[in-house]
Amino acid sequence: MKMIDAHIHLDQYSDKEIAMILDDANRIEALISVSFNLSSCERNLQLLKKYAKVYGAFGYHPEQRLPSDSEKNDLFQWICSNFDEMIAVGEVGLPYYLRKDGKITRNQFEEHIELLNLFIQKAKKWEKPIILHAVYDDAPIVCDYLENYSIQKAHFHWFKGDLKTCERMIKNGYYISVTPDIVYEEEIQKIVKIYPIDQMMIETDGPWPFEGPFTGKMTHPNMMADSINMIARIKNLTVNEVGNRLLENTKHFYQL
Ligand SMILES: [Zn+2]
Repeated sequence: MKMIDAHIHLDQYSDKEIAMILDDANRIEALISVSFNLSSCERNLQLLKKYAKVYGAFGYHPEQRLPSDSEKNDLFQWICSNFDEMIAVGEVGLPYYLRKDGKITRNQFEEHIELLNLFIQKAKKWEKPIILHAVYDDAPIVCDYLENYSIQKAHFHWFKGDLKTCERMIKNGYYISVTPDIVYEEEIQKIVKIYPIDQMMIETDGPWPFEGPFTGKMTHPNMMADSINMIARIKNLTVNEVGNRLLENTKHFYQL
């Protein structure tokens, strides 16, 4: 059974680690590598050209300082000129953790919303899926904007949030993806219990490090085999059924 890592920051691994990951990826059919900023987009472009299994999404991660006007222009111009290489817009969204830690002002948060709005407009115009970092209180805000533009293809990666928002996302046909923390996080297990398997994918968000049985290990897409086992237990389905459905969902969503 093959797996697709629907969200990884492959550009943040070293060249040696990337070669190792792809060498040891018989079970991995594809990796969707999302971008953090312009230099990250450039590295992802190199990687997707080098490795057939790698697909690239281009965007600006919200959990960092806002781009200056010229950085923003450069980024959008670069994305436009590399449009054909892009599988989706991402990673974009809202800076939940920066805001929680009191690291941004109300005005800066509003600017993040404006930037996200711009990415949503572009995703609509470009007819590309959008990969979102939008958790807890930020998820309903992002849903408002997605609904404004009647966006169909929204992927909330590593989703965390309340039941009401889950129900809204399910109704809108949005997808979520689950990281290996499903093995030890009850909060994620609860979301997987209620979210339809047909709107679910798996990911690692690597190189983000995991805990529990993964403590001290470099995050590798092969870890998703454990996620599939846990999803199968929660959904009361066989491991094969879950693996195949998640694979088909991801292929369908990203038109792979
Ligand atoms: Zn990410």
